[in-house]
Amino acid sequence: MTTDNEKQLKKMKVRMPPSPTGYMHIGTVRMALFNYLYASQHDGQIVMRMEDTDRERSKKEFADDIIDGLRWLGLGWDEGPYYQSQRGEIYKRYLQRLLDENKAYWCFCSQDELEAQKQYQMSRGEAPIYSGKCFEMPRAQAEELIRQGRKAVVRFRGSKKKIAFNDIVRGRIEFDCSLTGDFVIAKDLDNALYNFTVVVDDCEMGITHVIRGEDHISNTPKQILVQEALGIEMPVYAHLPIVMGADRSKLSKRHGAVAITEYRRQGYLAEALINFTAFLGWNPGTEKEIYSMEELLRDFSLDKVQKGGAVFNPVRLDYLNGLYIRQKTPAQLAELCLPYFIEAGLVSKEGQDYKNRQTAEIIEPGFLEKIVAYQQPRLKKLSEIVDLSGYFFTGQLDYDKDLLKWKDATLKEIADALDELINLFSKIETGDWGRQKLEEIVMSRIAGFNLAQGKPEKDRGYLLWPLRVALCGQKMSIGPFEMADVLGREKTLKRLMAAKDLASGTSSAETLFDN
Ligand code: GLU
Repeated sequence: MTTDNEKQLKKMKVRMPPSPTGYMHIGTVRMALFNYLYASQHDGQIVMRMEDTDRERSKKEFADDIIDGLRWLGLGWDEGPYYQSQRGEIYKRYLQRLLDENKAYWCFCSQDELEAQKQYQMSRGEAPIYSGKCFEMPRAQAEELIRQGRKAVVRFRGSKKKIAFNDIVRGRIEFDCSLTGDFVIAKDLDNALYNFTVVVDDCEMGITHVIRGEDHISNTPKQILVQEALGIEMPVYAHLPIVMGADRSKLSKRHGAVAITEYRRQGYLAEALINFTAFLGWNPGTEKEIYSMEELLRDFSLDKVQKGGAVFNPVRLDYLNGLYIRQKTPAQLAELCLPYFIEAGLVSKEGQDYKNRQTAEIIEPGFLEKIVAYQQPRLKKLSEIVDLSGYFFTGQLDYDKDLLKWKDATLKEIADALDELINLFSKIETGDWGRQKLEEIVMSRIAGFNLAQGKPEKDRGYLLWPLRVALCGQKMSIGPFEMADVLGREKTLKRLMAAKDLASGTSSAETLFDN
Protein backbone atom coordinates (compact mmCIF):
# COMPACT_ATOMS: atom_id res chain seq x y z
CA MET A 1 0.00 0.00 0.00
CA THR A 2 1.17 3.51 -0.77
CA THR A 3 1.20 5.97 2.08
CA ASP A 4 -0.32 9.41 1.87
CA ASN A 5 3.17 10.87 1.73
CA GLU A 6 4.11 8.85 -1.31
CA LYS A 7 0.90 9.96 -3.00
CA GLN A 8 1.93 13.56 -2.47
CA LEU A 9 5.11 12.85 -4.40
CA LYS A 10 3.18 11.54 -7.37
CA LYS A 11 2.18 14.35 -9.76
CA MET A 12 -0.98 15.78 -8.29
CA LYS A 13 -4.13 15.65 -10.35
CA VAL A 14 -7.55 16.82 -9.23
CA ARG A 15 -10.92 16.89 -10.95
CA MET A 16 -13.86 19.21 -11.37
CA PRO A 17 -16.79 16.84 -11.91
CA PRO A 18 -20.05 18.79 -12.00
CA SER A 19 -23.38 17.14 -12.80
CA PRO A 20 -25.07 19.24 -15.49
CA THR A 21 -28.57 18.84 -14.10
CA GLY A 22 -29.11 22.57 -13.52
CA TYR A 23 -27.46 25.94 -14.01
CA MET A 24 -24.24 26.39 -12.10
CA HIS A 25 -24.73 27.20 -8.42
CA ILE A 26 -22.43 28.40 -5.70
CA GLY A 27 -21.64 24.86 -4.49
CA THR A 28 -20.11 24.01 -7.87
CA VAL A 29 -18.07 27.21 -7.82
CA ARG A 30 -16.77 26.36 -4.35
CA MET A 31 -15.83 22.82 -5.43
CA ALA A 32 -14.08 24.17 -8.55
CA LEU A 33 -12.32 27.00 -6.71
CA PHE A 34 -10.93 24.82 -3.93
CA ASN A 35 -9.68 22.26 -6.47
CA TYR A 36 -8.23 25.05 -8.58
CA LEU A 37 -6.39 26.63 -5.66
CA TYR A 38 -5.09 23.37 -4.28
CA ALA A 39 -3.88 22.08 -7.63
CA SER A 40 -2.31 25.40 -8.62
CA GLN A 41 -0.45 25.61 -5.32
CA HIS A 42 0.97 22.13 -5.79
CA ASP A 43 1.82 22.43 -9.45
CA GLY A 44 -0.92 19.91 -10.13
CA GLN A 45 -3.18 19.25 -13.09
CA ILE A 46 -6.95 19.76 -13.26
CA VAL A 47 -9.37 17.57 -15.19
CA MET A 48 -12.83 18.82 -16.17
CA ARG A 49 -15.39 16.03 -16.32
CA MET A 50 -19.12 16.39 -16.92
CA GLU A 51 -20.94 13.75 -14.90
CA ASP A 52 -23.91 13.48 -17.22
CA THR A 53 -24.88 9.85 -16.73
CA ASP A 54 -28.34 10.83 -15.52
CA ARG A 55 -29.77 11.10 -19.02
CA GLU A 56 -33.12 12.49 -18.01
CA ARG A 57 -31.86 15.33 -15.88
CA SER A 58 -28.60 16.21 -17.65
CA LYS A 59 -28.76 18.84 -20.36
CA LYS A 60 -26.19 20.28 -22.74
CA GLU A 61 -27.47 23.73 -21.91
CA PHE A 62 -26.49 23.21 -18.27
CA ALA A 63 -23.07 21.75 -19.16
CA ASP A 64 -22.37 24.77 -21.38
CA ASP A 65 -23.53 27.11 -18.64
CA ILE A 66 -21.15 25.52 -16.15
CA ILE A 67 -18.20 25.62 -18.55
CA ASP A 68 -18.90 29.20 -19.53
CA GLY A 69 -19.39 30.25 -15.91
CA LEU A 70 -16.16 28.63 -14.69
CA ARG A 71 -14.20 30.28 -17.49
CA TRP A 72 -15.73 33.64 -16.63
CA LEU A 73 -14.67 33.15 -13.02
CA GLY A 74 -11.14 32.37 -14.20
CA LEU A 75 -11.27 28.77 -12.95
CA GLY A 76 -9.64 26.92 -15.83
CA TRP A 77 -8.49 23.31 -16.23
CA ASP A 78 -5.76 21.44 -18.07
CA GLU A 79 -7.63 18.47 -19.47
CA GLY A 80 -11.14 17.89 -20.74
CA PRO A 81 -13.99 18.51 -20.60
CA TYR A 82 -14.74 14.81 -20.73
CA TYR A 83 -18.38 13.75 -20.89
CA GLN A 84 -19.30 10.58 -19.04
CA SER A 85 -22.14 10.05 -21.52
CA GLN A 86 -19.44 9.40 -24.15
CA ARG A 87 -17.45 6.96 -22.03
CA GLY A 88 -19.96 4.09 -21.89
CA GLU A 89 -17.56 1.59 -23.50
CA ILE A 90 -14.97 2.16 -20.80
CA TYR A 91 -17.47 1.57 -17.98
CA LYS A 92 -18.79 -1.51 -19.76
CA ARG A 93 -15.31 -3.01 -19.85
CA TYR A 94 -14.86 -2.52 -16.12
CA LEU A 95 -18.38 -3.79 -15.34
CA GLN A 96 -17.70 -6.89 -17.39
CA ARG A 97 -14.52 -7.44 -15.46
CA LEU A 98 -16.29 -7.32 -12.10
CA LEU A 99 -19.00 -9.68 -13.40
CA ASP A 100 -16.37 -12.10 -14.71
CA GLU A 101 -14.56 -12.05 -11.38
CA ASN A 102 -17.83 -12.59 -9.50
CA LYS A 103 -17.35 -9.30 -7.66
CA ALA A 104 -20.59 -8.07 -9.17
CA TYR A 105 -23.67 -9.95 -10.31
CA TRP A 106 -26.94 -9.59 -12.21
CA CYS A 107 -29.92 -8.86 -10.02
CA PHE A 108 -33.41 -9.63 -11.38
CA CYS A 109 -35.42 -8.64 -8.33
CA SER A 110 -38.40 -6.42 -9.11
CA GLN A 111 -39.01 -3.07 -7.46
CA ASP A 112 -42.04 -4.54 -5.65
CA GLU A 113 -39.98 -7.41 -4.30
CA LEU A 114 -37.26 -5.05 -3.08
CA GLU A 115 -39.78 -2.74 -1.50
CA ALA A 116 -41.53 -5.59 0.34
CA GLN A 117 -38.18 -6.83 1.62
CA LYS A 118 -37.28 -3.34 2.80
CA GLN A 119 -40.59 -2.93 4.65
CA TYR A 120 -40.13 -6.30 6.30
CA GLN A 121 -36.60 -5.49 7.46
CA MET A 122 -37.68 -2.13 8.79
CA SER A 123 -40.63 -3.64 10.65
CA ARG A 124 -38.10 -5.84 12.46
CA GLY A 125 -35.95 -2.82 13.26
CA GLU A 126 -33.23 -3.99 10.85
CA ALA A 127 -31.30 -1.84 8.38
CA PRO A 128 -32.88 -2.15 4.91
CA ILE A 129 -30.16 -3.84 2.89
CA TYR A 130 -30.37 -6.16 -0.09
CA SER A 131 -30.67 -9.83 0.87
CA GLY A 132 -28.08 -11.03 -1.66
CA LYS A 133 -30.63 -13.40 -3.20
CA CYS A 134 -29.50 -13.04 -6.84
CA PHE A 135 -25.87 -13.58 -5.86
CA GLU A 136 -26.85 -17.22 -5.38
CA MET A 137 -27.96 -17.59 -9.00
CA PRO A 138 -25.40 -19.51 -11.10
CA ARG A 139 -23.63 -17.21 -13.58
CA ALA A 140 -24.67 -19.26 -16.65
CA GLN A 141 -28.34 -19.03 -15.66
CA ALA A 142 -28.10 -15.28 -15.16
CA GLU A 143 -26.38 -14.86 -18.54
CA GLU A 144 -29.09 -16.92 -20.19
CA LEU A 145 -31.85 -14.74 -18.70
CA ILE A 146 -30.02 -11.64 -19.90
CA ARG A 147 -29.79 -13.16 -23.40
CA GLN A 148 -33.54 -13.72 -23.28
CA GLY A 149 -33.97 -10.02 -22.66
CA ARG A 150 -34.87 -10.10 -18.96
CA LYS A 151 -34.27 -6.77 -17.26
CA ALA A 152 -31.60 -6.77 -14.59
CA VAL A 153 -29.31 -4.36 -12.78
CA VAL A 154 -25.67 -4.97 -11.90
CA ARG A 155 -25.09 -5.25 -8.20
CA PHE A 156 -21.74 -4.93 -6.52
CA ARG A 157 -20.91 -7.66 -4.02
CA GLY A 158 -20.43 -5.63 -0.86
CA SER A 159 -18.57 -6.51 2.26
CA LYS A 160 -19.26 -6.46 5.96
CA LYS A 161 -15.89 -5.09 6.90
CA LYS A 162 -14.94 -1.75 8.38
CA ILE A 163 -13.35 0.86 6.15
CA ALA A 164 -11.27 3.82 7.20
CA PHE A 165 -9.72 6.68 5.29
CA ASN A 166 -7.96 9.91 6.15
CA ASP A 167 -9.77 13.02 5.06
CA ILE A 168 -7.69 16.21 4.82
CA VAL A 169 -10.55 18.25 6.30
CA ARG A 170 -12.20 15.80 8.64
CA GLY A 171 -9.35 13.58 9.75
CA ARG A 172 -9.84 9.83 10.10
CA ILE A 173 -13.26 8.58 9.04
CA GLU A 174 -14.49 5.06 9.69
CA PHE A 175 -17.42 3.26 8.14
CA ASP A 176 -19.09 -0.02 8.92
CA CYS A 177 -19.87 -1.56 5.53
CA SER A 178 -22.23 -4.15 6.98
CA LEU A 179 -24.92 -1.48 6.64
CA THR A 180 -24.17 -0.90 2.96
CA GLY A 181 -25.05 -4.31 1.56
CA ASP A 182 -24.78 -5.18 -2.13
CA PHE A 183 -25.41 -1.95 -3.99
CA VAL A 184 -26.39 -1.28 -7.60
CA ILE A 185 -23.57 0.00 -9.83
CA ALA A 186 -25.29 -0.11 -13.22
CA LYS A 187 -28.83 -0.11 -14.58
CA ASP A 188 -27.45 -2.36 -17.36
CA LEU A 189 -24.11 -2.71 -19.13
CA ASP A 190 -24.64 0.57 -20.97
CA ASN A 191 -25.80 2.56 -17.98
CA ALA A 192 -23.28 2.55 -15.18
CA LEU A 193 -24.13 4.62 -12.12
CA TYR A 194 -22.28 7.34 -10.25
CA ASN A 195 -20.54 5.31 -7.53
CA PHE A 196 -19.03 3.16 -10.26
CA THR A 197 -18.26 5.70 -13.00
CA VAL A 198 -16.56 8.01 -10.54
CA VAL A 199 -14.11 5.30 -9.47
CA VAL A 200 -13.38 4.19 -13.04
CA ASP A 201 -12.86 7.75 -14.25
CA ASP A 202 -10.72 8.83 -11.32
CA CYS A 203 -8.51 5.83 -12.01
CA GLU A 204 -8.42 6.22 -15.82
CA MET A 205 -7.70 9.93 -15.47
CA GLY A 206 -4.98 9.47 -12.85
CA ILE A 207 -6.71 11.49 -10.13
CA THR A 208 -4.70 11.69 -6.92
CA HIS A 209 -6.92 14.04 -4.87
CA VAL A 210 -10.69 14.13 -4.57
CA ILE A 211 -11.91 17.46 -3.18
CA ARG A 212 -15.69 17.60 -3.05
CA GLY A 213 -18.73 18.45 -0.97
CA GLU A 214 -19.54 16.71 2.28
CA ASP A 215 -22.74 15.33 0.74
CA HIS A 216 -20.49 12.74 -0.90
CA ILE A 217 -18.98 11.37 2.32
CA SER A 218 -21.60 8.65 2.53
CA ASN A 219 -20.67 7.54 -1.02
CA THR A 220 -17.00 7.24 -0.17
CA PRO A 221 -17.07 3.75 1.46
CA LYS A 222 -18.89 2.34 -1.58
CA GLN A 223 -16.32 3.91 -3.85
CA ILE A 224 -13.48 2.54 -1.76
CA LEU A 225 -14.99 -0.96 -1.99
CA VAL A 226 -15.18 -0.64 -5.78
CA GLN A 227 -11.57 0.61 -5.87
CA GLU A 228 -10.47 -2.42 -3.87
CA ALA A 229 -12.37 -4.79 -6.13
CA LEU A 230 -10.71 -3.29 -9.20
CA GLY A 231 -7.29 -3.04 -7.58
CA ILE A 232 -7.29 0.73 -7.82
CA GLU A 233 -5.28 2.93 -5.49
CA MET A 234 -7.32 5.11 -3.15
CA PRO A 235 -7.02 8.85 -3.84
CA VAL A 236 -6.56 11.38 -1.03
CA TYR A 237 -9.94 12.73 0.08
CA ALA A 238 -11.00 16.16 1.27
CA HIS A 239 -14.70 16.70 1.98
CA LEU A 240 -15.75 20.34 2.13
CA PRO A 241 -18.40 21.47 4.63
CA ILE A 242 -21.94 21.86 3.49
CA VAL A 243 -23.05 25.33 2.34
CA MET A 244 -26.25 26.38 4.09
CA GLY A 245 -28.58 29.31 4.56
CA ALA A 246 -28.58 31.62 7.59
CA ASP A 247 -31.24 29.40 9.21
CA ARG A 248 -28.81 26.48 8.84
CA SER A 249 -31.07 24.65 6.41
CA LYS A 250 -30.09 23.49 2.93
CA LEU A 251 -29.16 26.45 0.75
CA SER A 252 -31.87 27.52 -1.69
CA LYS A 253 -33.27 30.54 -3.53
CA ARG A 254 -35.09 31.46 -0.35
CA HIS A 255 -31.70 32.35 1.17
CA GLY A 256 -30.88 34.64 -1.72
CA ALA A 257 -28.80 32.08 -3.60
CA VAL A 258 -29.39 32.10 -7.34
CA ALA A 259 -27.66 30.56 -10.37
CA ILE A 260 -24.25 32.03 -11.16
CA THR A 261 -25.52 33.19 -14.58
CA GLU A 262 -28.09 35.23 -12.70
CA TYR A 263 -25.45 36.84 -10.47
CA ARG A 264 -23.46 37.62 -13.58
CA ARG A 265 -26.50 39.08 -15.30
CA GLN A 266 -27.22 41.32 -12.32
CA GLY A 267 -23.67 42.62 -12.41
CA TYR A 268 -21.76 40.79 -9.74
CA LEU A 269 -18.06 40.77 -10.58
CA ALA A 270 -16.09 37.55 -10.92
CA GLU A 271 -13.55 38.82 -8.36
CA ALA A 272 -16.29 39.39 -5.78
CA LEU A 273 -17.82 35.95 -6.31
CA ILE A 274 -14.41 34.31 -5.99
CA ASN A 275 -13.57 36.20 -2.81
CA PHE A 276 -17.01 35.39 -1.39
CA THR A 277 -16.84 31.69 -2.31
CA ALA A 278 -13.35 31.25 -0.87
CA PHE A 279 -14.77 32.01 2.56
CA LEU A 280 -17.48 29.35 2.28
CA GLY A 281 -15.68 26.94 4.55
CA TRP A 282 -12.20 28.46 4.56
CA ASN A 283 -10.77 31.37 6.41
CA PRO A 284 -7.17 32.41 6.88
CA GLY A 285 -7.46 32.73 10.65
CA THR A 286 -6.66 36.44 10.44
CA GLU A 287 -8.72 39.61 10.10
CA LYS A 288 -8.02 39.81 6.38
CA GLU A 289 -11.23 39.38 4.40
CA ILE A 290 -10.41 40.82 1.01
CA TYR A 291 -8.60 38.36 -1.20
CA SER A 292 -7.62 38.60 -4.83
CA MET A 293 -6.98 35.35 -6.71
CA GLU A 294 -3.21 35.92 -6.33
CA GLU A 295 -3.60 36.26 -2.58
CA LEU A 296 -5.80 33.18 -2.38
CA LEU A 297 -3.19 31.23 -4.29
CA ARG A 298 -0.67 32.37 -1.69
CA ASP A 299 -2.71 31.90 1.50
CA PHE A 300 -5.36 29.23 0.83
CA SER A 301 -4.89 25.93 2.57
CA LEU A 302 -7.13 22.88 2.86
CA ASP A 303 -5.87 22.44 6.42
CA LYS A 304 -7.72 25.59 7.36
CA VAL A 305 -11.03 24.41 5.95
CA GLN A 306 -13.59 24.03 8.73
CA LYS A 307 -15.65 20.94 9.43
CA GLY A 308 -18.83 22.76 10.39
CA GLY A 309 -21.29 24.05 7.79
CA ALA A 310 -20.51 27.27 5.92
CA VAL A 311 -23.20 29.93 6.03
CA PHE A 312 -24.14 31.74 2.83
CA ASN A 313 -24.67 35.44 3.49
CA PRO A 314 -25.97 37.45 0.50
CA VAL A 315 -25.42 40.76 2.31
CA ARG A 316 -21.74 40.00 2.44
CA LEU A 317 -21.69 39.23 -1.27
CA ASP A 318 -23.25 42.65 -1.98
CA TYR A 319 -20.71 44.29 0.29
CA LEU A 320 -17.80 42.58 -1.45
CA ASN A 321 -19.20 43.36 -4.87
CA GLY A 322 -19.51 47.06 -4.03
CA LEU A 323 -15.96 46.99 -2.83
CA TYR A 324 -14.65 45.45 -6.06
CA ILE A 325 -16.76 47.85 -8.11
CA ARG A 326 -15.09 50.75 -6.30
CA GLN A 327 -11.67 49.39 -7.23
CA LYS A 328 -12.38 49.87 -10.95
CA THR A 329 -11.18 52.91 -12.84
CA PRO A 330 -13.96 54.98 -14.45
CA ALA A 331 -12.95 53.62 -17.86
CA GLN A 332 -13.15 50.00 -16.66
CA LEU A 333 -16.44 50.59 -14.92
CA ALA A 334 -17.92 52.34 -17.96
CA GLU A 335 -17.02 49.33 -20.08
CA LEU A 336 -18.56 46.95 -17.54
CA CYS A 337 -21.75 49.03 -17.36
CA LEU A 338 -22.13 49.59 -21.09
CA PRO A 339 -24.05 46.32 -21.72
CA TYR A 340 -26.60 47.38 -19.08
CA PHE A 341 -27.13 50.76 -20.72
CA ILE A 342 -27.56 48.99 -24.06
CA GLU A 343 -29.95 46.36 -22.70
CA ALA A 344 -32.07 49.07 -21.08
CA GLY A 345 -32.39 50.80 -24.45
CA LEU A 346 -30.52 53.92 -23.33
CA VAL A 347 -27.50 53.46 -25.57
CA SER A 348 -27.16 51.90 -29.01
CA LYS A 349 -24.21 51.20 -31.25
CA GLU A 350 -24.41 52.51 -34.75
CA GLY A 351 -21.39 51.93 -36.90
CA GLN A 352 -18.37 53.11 -34.98
CA ASP A 353 -20.30 55.21 -32.50
CA TYR A 354 -22.40 54.72 -29.44
CA LYS A 355 -25.47 56.92 -29.47
CA ASN A 356 -28.00 58.07 -26.94
CA ARG A 357 -31.09 56.11 -28.03
CA GLN A 358 -33.49 58.93 -27.24
CA THR A 359 -31.66 61.98 -28.50
CA ALA A 360 -29.60 60.22 -31.19
CA GLU A 361 -26.57 62.21 -30.02
CA ILE A 362 -23.19 60.56 -30.15
CA ILE A 363 -22.01 59.58 -26.70
CA GLU A 364 -18.55 60.89 -26.04
CA PRO A 365 -16.38 58.39 -24.13
CA GLY A 366 -16.11 60.75 -21.16
CA PHE A 367 -19.88 60.90 -20.71
CA LEU A 368 -20.37 57.32 -19.49
CA GLU A 369 -17.16 57.49 -17.49
CA LYS A 370 -18.38 60.54 -15.62
CA ILE A 371 -21.75 58.95 -14.87
CA VAL A 372 -20.28 55.72 -13.54
CA ALA A 373 -17.57 57.54 -11.58
CA TYR A 374 -20.23 59.56 -9.74
CA GLN A 375 -22.42 56.48 -9.16
CA GLN A 376 -19.51 54.26 -8.16
CA PRO A 377 -19.76 54.89 -4.38
CA ARG A 378 -23.35 53.68 -4.25
CA LEU A 379 -23.32 50.79 -6.75
CA LYS A 380 -23.68 47.33 -5.22
CA LYS A 381 -24.14 45.63 -8.57
CA LEU A 382 -23.63 46.84 -12.12
CA SER A 383 -27.27 46.48 -13.18
CA GLU A 384 -28.25 49.21 -10.71
CA ILE A 385 -26.54 51.75 -12.95
CA VAL A 386 -29.62 51.88 -15.18
CA ASP A 387 -32.18 52.86 -12.56
CA LEU A 388 -29.73 55.31 -11.05
CA SER A 389 -28.82 57.07 -14.29
CA GLY A 390 -31.71 56.88 -16.75
CA TYR A 391 -32.36 60.65 -16.52
CA PHE A 392 -29.04 61.43 -18.21
CA PHE A 393 -30.16 59.74 -21.41
CA THR A 394 -33.67 61.00 -21.76
CA GLY A 395 -34.62 63.68 -24.20
CA GLN A 396 -37.75 64.23 -22.19
CA LEU A 397 -37.99 64.82 -18.47
CA ASP A 398 -41.45 64.19 -17.18
CA TYR A 399 -42.32 65.49 -13.73
CA ASP A 400 -44.90 67.41 -11.77
CA LYS A 401 -44.08 71.09 -11.26
CA ASP A 402 -44.84 70.80 -7.53
CA LEU A 403 -41.79 68.57 -7.24
CA LEU A 404 -39.69 71.68 -7.83
CA LYS A 405 -41.02 73.29 -4.63
CA TRP A 406 -38.68 73.49 -1.67
CA LYS A 407 -40.51 73.48 1.70
CA ASP A 408 -43.26 76.13 1.60
CA ALA A 409 -41.78 78.15 -1.27
CA THR A 410 -44.27 79.32 -3.88
CA LEU A 411 -43.87 78.45 -7.54
CA LYS A 412 -43.06 82.10 -8.15
CA GLU A 413 -40.16 81.91 -5.70
CA ILE A 414 -38.99 78.67 -7.35
CA ALA A 415 -39.10 80.31 -10.78
CA ASP A 416 -36.96 83.13 -9.32
CA ALA A 417 -34.49 80.64 -7.88
CA LEU A 418 -34.19 78.90 -11.23
CA ASP A 419 -33.73 82.25 -12.91
CA GLU A 420 -30.94 83.03 -10.51
CA LEU A 421 -29.25 79.71 -11.28
CA ILE A 422 -29.58 80.35 -15.01
CA ASN A 423 -27.91 83.71 -14.59
CA LEU A 424 -25.09 82.28 -12.49
CA PHE A 425 -24.45 79.37 -14.84
CA SER A 426 -24.66 81.41 -18.05
CA LYS A 427 -21.63 83.35 -16.92
CA ILE A 428 -19.46 80.22 -16.80
CA GLU A 429 -17.57 79.51 -20.02
CA THR A 430 -17.78 75.98 -21.40
CA GLY A 431 -14.07 75.51 -20.76
CA ASP A 432 -14.50 76.32 -17.05
CA TRP A 433 -17.57 74.12 -16.62
CA GLY A 434 -17.06 71.48 -13.96
CA ARG A 435 -18.40 70.19 -10.66
CA GLN A 436 -16.09 72.22 -8.47
CA LYS A 437 -16.59 75.49 -10.30
CA LEU A 438 -20.38 75.16 -10.20
CA GLU A 439 -20.34 74.31 -6.54
CA GLU A 440 -18.12 77.28 -5.71
CA ILE A 441 -20.41 79.69 -7.50
CA VAL A 442 -23.68 78.40 -6.08
CA MET A 443 -22.32 78.00 -2.55
CA SER A 444 -20.91 81.48 -2.47
CA ARG A 445 -24.29 82.79 -3.61
CA ILE A 446 -25.90 80.82 -0.78
CA ALA A 447 -23.38 82.27 1.68
CA GLY A 448 -24.57 85.68 0.52
CA PHE A 449 -28.21 85.10 1.48
CA ASN A 450 -29.12 88.09 3.67
CA LEU A 451 -29.17 87.48 7.36
CA ALA A 452 -32.50 88.20 9.02
CA GLN A 453 -32.57 88.00 12.82
CA GLY A 454 -29.27 86.15 12.78
CA LYS A 455 -30.56 83.52 10.31
CA PRO A 456 -30.23 83.61 6.51
CA GLU A 457 -33.42 84.74 4.78
CA LYS A 458 -33.47 81.45 2.85
CA ASP A 459 -31.80 78.11 3.38
CA ARG A 460 -29.57 76.37 0.83
CA GLY A 461 -32.41 74.16 -0.37
CA TYR A 462 -33.99 77.22 -1.93
CA LEU A 463 -31.42 76.96 -4.76
CA LEU A 464 -30.20 73.38 -4.47
CA TRP A 465 -33.58 71.61 -4.49
CA PRO A 466 -34.98 73.09 -7.71
CA LEU A 467 -31.55 72.63 -9.28
CA ARG A 468 -31.68 68.93 -8.50
CA VAL A 469 -35.23 68.42 -9.73
CA ALA A 470 -34.65 70.51 -12.87
CA LEU A 471 -31.72 68.32 -13.85
CA CYS A 472 -33.19 64.88 -13.16
CA GLY A 473 -36.94 65.26 -12.70
CA GLN A 474 -36.93 63.19 -9.50
CA LYS A 475 -36.14 63.37 -5.80
CA MET A 476 -33.17 61.03 -5.64
CA SER A 477 -30.02 61.46 -7.64
CA ILE A 478 -26.33 62.10 -7.37
CA GLY A 479 -25.41 65.63 -6.26
CA PRO A 480 -26.77 68.48 -8.41
CA PHE A 481 -23.30 69.77 -9.31
CA GLU A 482 -22.24 66.27 -10.34
CA MET A 483 -25.30 66.03 -12.57
CA ALA A 484 -24.58 69.42 -14.11
CA ASP A 485 -21.02 68.28 -14.72
CA VAL A 486 -22.21 65.17 -16.57
CA LEU A 487 -24.83 67.05 -18.60
CA GLY A 488 -22.50 69.89 -19.61
CA ARG A 489 -23.27 73.58 -19.93
CA GLU A 490 -25.77 73.53 -22.74
CA LYS A 491 -28.02 70.73 -21.48
CA THR A 492 -27.90 72.01 -17.93
CA LEU A 493 -29.08 75.44 -19.00
CA LYS A 494 -31.80 73.96 -21.18
CA ARG A 495 -33.12 71.84 -18.34
CA LEU A 496 -33.05 74.83 -15.99
CA MET A 497 -34.97 76.97 -18.47
CA ALA A 498 -37.53 74.25 -19.03
CA ALA A 499 -38.00 73.97 -15.27
CA LYS A 500 -38.37 77.73 -14.96
CA ASP A 501 -41.03 77.73 -17.66
CA LEU A 502 -42.82 74.94 -15.87
CA ALA A 503 -42.73 76.72 -12.51
CA SER A 504 -43.82 80.04 -13.90
CA GLY A 505 -46.53 78.48 -16.01
CA THR A 506 -45.18 79.76 -19.30
CA SER A 507 -44.87 76.25 -20.65
CA SER A 508 -48.21 74.94 -21.84
CA ALA A 509 -47.33 71.27 -21.44
CA GLU A 510 -45.82 69.66 -18.39
CA THR A 511 -43.66 67.51 -20.59
CA LEU A 512 -40.33 69.13 -21.23
CA PHE A 513 -37.98 68.58 -24.07
CA ASP A 514 -34.26 68.97 -23.99
CA ASN A 515 -33.91 69.76 -27.63
N1 GLU B 1 -20.93 14.86 -9.94
C1 GLU B 1 -20.92 14.99 -8.52
C2 GLU B 1 -21.66 16.24 -8.12
O1 GLU B 1 -21.83 17.13 -8.92
C3 GLU B 1 -19.55 15.07 -7.94
C4 GLU B 1 -18.98 13.74 -7.72
C5 GLU B 1 -17.66 13.68 -7.00
O2 GLU B 1 -17.03 14.71 -6.74
O3 GLU B 1 -17.25 12.58 -6.73
O4 GLU B 1 -22.05 16.34 -6.99
